[in-house]
Amino acid sequence: MDSQSFDILILGAGPAGVSAALTAHARGRSALVLGSDPMASPLARAERIENYPGLSGMSGRDMLAAMLGDLERQGIPRVAGRVTAVMAFGGQFMVSAEQDVYQAKALILAAGAQQAAKPFPGEGSLLGRGVSYCATCDGMLYRGKRVAVLGLGPGSEADRDFLESIGCQVLYFTGAQAKHVEIRGDERVTGLSVNGEEYAVDGVFVLREAVAASVLLPGLRMEDGHIAVGPDMATGLPGVYAAGDCTGKPYQIARAVGQGNVAALAADKFIKETGK
Ligand SMILES: Cc1cc2nc3c(=O)[nH]c(=O)nc-3n(C[C@H](O)[C@H](O)[C@H](O)COP(=O)(O)OP(=O)(O)OC[C@H]3O[C@@H](n4cnc5c(N)ncnc54)[C@H](O)[C@@H]3O)c2cc1C
Repeated sequence: MDSQSFDILILGAGPAGVSAALTAHARGRSALVLGSDPMASPLARAERIENYPGLSGMSGRDMLAAMLGDLERQGIPRVAGRVTAVMAFGGQFMVSAEQDVYQAKALILAAGAQQAAKPFPGEGSLLGRGVSYCATCDGMLYRGKRVAVLGLGPGSEADRDFLESIGCQVLYFTGAQAKHVEIRGDERVTGLSVNGEEYAVDGVFVLREAVAASVLLPGLRMEDGHIAVGPDMATGLPGVYAAGDCTGKPYQIARAVGQGNVAALAADKFIKETGK
């Protein structure tokens, strides 16, 4: 397992994340942008943007491509992958994306509005005790066992095939099938209810396009399904900032970009003041 250190880790490669990265870089901070497929941003579905200064008339896809191009031109690294775990200890953050682990002094959550998606009953309490977000990372723990895969994001079939290839007995549910899901168990996962039908399983892989920040960082204060922030985008957890649609409405590019800028300035100040 690889581990690399940065000043600031940015979760999300949409407008808020890119803006935060550009400002962090301008402040001389090393920053890494971690995000699942950038074209998963809702912006990619916008046919024509008319309210972003200087670029009006552009399609959402072209605007995203232009933003990602800015990262590339300035040599700001970006890793394509789902962030599946965040740990905070000793004043540092450790973030897992796919099989790699990254370390930083501050964290900016720019994960978009899907943060409002609620975890399934049992998902949060059994995370790490039978619930996993990453087949590649945890699959081996379930070799020879019966697991369920909730394939809610793209590429889930490949994870199902991987688990089968290492000897797991896999029950596979697509997003369309997994409408009403409850994960069962006290100490560990023992079963799963899907649309009222009960299945005995040892593990449940919940494979969404993105894992909600509220699940990754259980101490985060939420308001109406969004991350609560102060005027400097601070979340209340020391060193953790949030920006963009994940902090609330209106869901707009200009707001996301502005908040990304403020969050990066605040993260820079935090690192300076804490002498990290
Ligand atoms: C059809 C449509 C049209 C729109 N038109 C306009 C418009 O004309 N003008 C306007 O201002 N706004 C418009 N918007 C809104 C605009 O797209 C959003 O406000 C903007 O994209 C928000 O940026 P963001 O960076 O906060 O979040 P997002 O763009 O959602 O980016 C967040 C990224 O983080 C990733 N992510 C989340 N969690 C994880 C994780 N655990 N691991 C890895 N990656 C993760 C997501 O996959 C996503 O790619 C439109 C939206 C839609 C859907």
